This record gives sequence, C-alpha cells and structure tokens, in this order.
Amino acid sequence: MTGSADETEALRHRLKMAKRKAAQDAEVASKTILEKGLLVVHTGNGKGKSTAAFGLLLRALGHGFPCGVVQFVKGGRETGERRAFERFSDLLVWHTMGEGFTWETQDRDRDKRAAEAAWCRARELMDRPDLKLLVLDELNIVLRYGYLPLAEVVAVLAARRSDLHVVVTGRNAKPELIEAADLVTEMSLVKHPFAAGVRAQAGIEF
Ligand code: ATP
Ligand code: MG
Repeated sequence: MTGSADETEALRHRLKMAKRKAAQDAEVASKTILEKGLLVVHTGNGKGKSTAAFGLLLRALGHGFPCGVVQFVKGGRETGERRAFERFSDLLVWHTMGEGFTWETQDRDRDKRAAEAAWCRARELMDRPDLKLLVLDELNIVLRYGYLPLAEVVAVLAARRSDLHVVVTGRNAKPELIEAADLVTEMSLVKHPFAAGVRAQAGIEF
C-alpha cells in the first residue's frame, strides 16, 4: 500500500470509530436510571447458571460490597466455590440448607421444611440494610416443587430494598418470577460431557 492509501484507510477508520462512539454515547445518555437493584434470573437446561451467579458474587466482593448466598438445594459434596469464598468471610454470609434436599431424599415434608428455613435465612439477609447482592441458588427448583408459596416469594422479592441485587438460579424458572425480573438469562444446552459418560469434574462441576 502507498503512503496515501494508508492515510485514506486510517482516516476512514477514524471516521467510522467517531461515528460509533457518537452512537454509543447517545445510547448511554438515553439510560437515565443511574442505580437500581436488579432481580436477575439464570435459568435453562445448559450448564452455567450457578457459576455465573458466583461470578457476579466475585465481582461484587471485588467492590467491597457485603453479599449473601443461600443455597436451596444442597448437593452431596463440598464445592470449590464454597471453600474459595471462605476467604471473603468479612464480607460474605453463606447459608447452605442444613440437612439438605438432595436428589436422593424422598421425604417431601423434610425438604419443604428445609426450603422454608432457607427462605427464612434469605428474608433475614434481605432485611440487612448493608447487603448489596444476594444469591438465591436453586430457588427455582424449590419453587418448581411447590415447597414455597410462589406468590409470596415473588412479592417479597419485588418489595425488597430498591438498591439490593438478587440473583436467582435454577432450571424451570416460574413465569411469574421471569415477569418480575429485570435481567433473565437462559443457558441453553449445546453439549455436556455427561452425555458422553464423563463424570463430574473437580473445578468444573464442583
Ligand atoms: P453449574 O453449577 O455448573 O453452573 P448449573 O447451575 O447451570 O451448573 P444445575 O442445574 O444447578 O446447573 O446442575 C448442577 C450440576 O449439573 C453441575 O454439575 C452441572 O455440570 C450439571 N449439569 C448442568 N447442566 C447439565 C446438563 N445439561 N446435563 C448434565 N449435567 C448438567
Ligand atoms: Mg446450579
């Protein structure tokens, strides 16, 4: 390329970028709500709902924000995230549902009581004036099983402090919750190693 062709190309690029920046600035200027607590829902059949919630948690902790986690469905094993987040115990409160609803439990009453106890913890955390982000991991699952009153849960979430972010995870999010949410992401399944006979891997699944 000759020198002048280079210059023409550089000029074209600069004009294109200036136009893009103007569009971007106008877009940002059109957003007038400066701060708002968001109700976030991660649902769908693909992997990544809980890990994305823990990513947000890490981001909020990085800002020094007090945060909480309530896990409504306790898995069988100790997880890497739980251990890692212990390092943030000055900012983070973490409740995993006591005896635990697991896929093996077939005691509906016990699971229902455990779900109610976890919801109680969640409400206590929502009442804390300093909390900035609350993760309600697998709340969708207990709502799907009818272990908690959906209308009440949605009403309490909707009536939370206006600057509190809440992240709800789990498959099969109820339409009423999706309706109430500000940000909903559906993880879609493209491929999962489970289908190829691969067991859960440390650092990936737990
Ligand atoms: P993760 O905690 O890895 O982000 P998730 O929260 O999206 O997963 P859950 O429905 O909570 O998914 O299931 C948790 C476990 O099930 C994880 O070990 C995950 O890898 C696995 N899993 C998620 N999606 C699938 C799938 N489509 N097929 C098989 N296993 C899956
Ligand atoms: Mg999950």
